[in-house]
This record gives sequence, structure tokens and C-alpha cells, in this order.
Amino acid sequence: MKYGIIGYKGRMGKEISQLFEENGNQLVWGYDKDGEFSKEVPEILIDFSLPEVFEKTVNYVKKFNVPLIIGTTGLSDNQIYTLKNLAKNVPVVQSYNFSIGIQLFLKMIDVLKDSTNGWDVEITETHHRFKKDKPSGTAKMLKERCGKDVPISSLRLGNVPGDHTIYLSNLGEVLSISHRALSRRAFAEGVLKSAEFVMNKDNGFYTFSDII
Ligand code: NAD
Repeated sequence: MKYGIIGYKGRMGKEISQLFEENGNQLVWGYDKDGEFSKEVPEILIDFSLPEVFEKTVNYVKKFNVPLIIGTTGLSDNQIYTLKNLAKNVPVVQSYNFSIGIQLFLKMIDVLKDSTNGWDVEITETHHRFKKDKPSGTAKMLKERCGKDVPISSLRLGNVPGDHTIYLSNLGEVLSISHRALSRRAFAEGVLKSAEFVMNKDNGFYTFSDII
């Protein structure tokens, strides 16, 4: 694939381009704070930046008329609505977490939530000190899957790529499920899978669950 990255100088941008290159793909276009570089027209765009870059991303997708994979967190309801509209014209994959483990975590919540009525449920998330949004998009996804108002506690520590735990407790016991991303490679692998999936797909809005 000849691909482009919005936020190509960032932590995720670099991890994604390293993995994509290892798999024989070519970074031909990029956009970051200091502007744009362009060697060729990209066949697919990937956005791991910030919500304030979103409008630019939408304009670039329209300009190149190519599929979009977007992992940027902290998007507003309006921005998600815009993505769903954009997906009428190109394939769009959006997820706040591109790791396989978190997809399995979501399925575990489906199993647990019906059997733990009346239990206390809380979520904790820990991320590196540079993370801008709080709580994390993943914690919000886990909460949404619980189908009720679950408190989320956030820690910002060192260089942690992403830890999430859900605690469920009645008066006699505590059940917890945890996920730890060991490196950003876990997310990059999911982005590569998504890119390969979406290249020849019909227009539409896809999540990472659809892909795996
Ligand atoms: P980062 O800060 O290292 O990278 C962001 C990049 O965007 C930087 O290179 C920065 O220069 C660029 N940028 C910022 N403002 C810009 C602007 N106005 N114009 C152009 N470029 C701009 O962050 P990161 O750790 O790589 O994370 C990027 C995003 O991806 C965050 O929203 C993060 O929460 C999210 N993320 C998502 C997943 C997932 O699986 N969905 C996983 C990890 C991180």
C-alpha cells in the first residue's frame, strides 16, 4: 500500500510507519504540525493526531478520495457524526483501541454484565504523562459496553502505553479483568489489519470489531 499518515511524527505515527514499512508498504504522504510532505498520492490515509486536526483530516480524505483509518481519541459526538457522513463516500475505520486484547475484553463485559446485577462496577485506566485526553477513549468504550454509568479513574504515569482494569464487586468478592498494552506495536498491528481489510471494501463506517 502507498499510505499517508496525519500525525506521522508522533509516537503512534512512527510505530505505524515502522510496521507498515516492514510489511512492504510505502509512506508517500504525511501531515504534521510543520506541514505536509508529498512524494505520491496516497491510496489510504491514517490519522493518529489530535481532535483539533480533524477538520484537516476530513478535507484530505475528500481531496484524495481514499479510505480513512482513524485512531485519534477524544473526538466529539459531532466529529463522529461527520465521520459517519464521510463514510457514505469512502470506507472509514474508527476505533479508540486497535488492540485485539481490548476487543476480547469487550466480549467479556458482554458475558459478565448480565450476571452481576447489583454489583459495584468501576474502571481504572493508566497512561503515559503525555496523553492529552482523560479518561481514555478505551475506558469510555468499556463503560459504554457496560450499559450503565460506571465511574472511571485515570492515572497519568511515566511512559505507560495503556492499562485498563474493570472491577466488579459484591459484599463478599471482587472480580477484576485487566488489559495491558506492552507497547504501541499492539495498536499498530491492528491498524495494519484494518488497512489491509479496508482497501477493497465498499464505502461505510467500520469499527475494529467489524474487522477482527
Ligand atoms: P503524539 O502526541 O505522540 O502524536 C500526535 C502527532 O500529531 C504529533 O506528531 C503532533 O505533532 C501532531 N499534531 C498535533 N497537533 C497538530 C496540528 N495542529 N496539526 C498537525 N499535526 C499535529 O500522540 P500519540 O501517542 O501518537 O497519539 C496520537 C493519538 O492517537 C492520540 O489521540 C491518542 O490518544 C491516540 N491513540 C489511539 C490508539 C488507538 O488504538 N486508537 C492507540 C494509541 C494512541
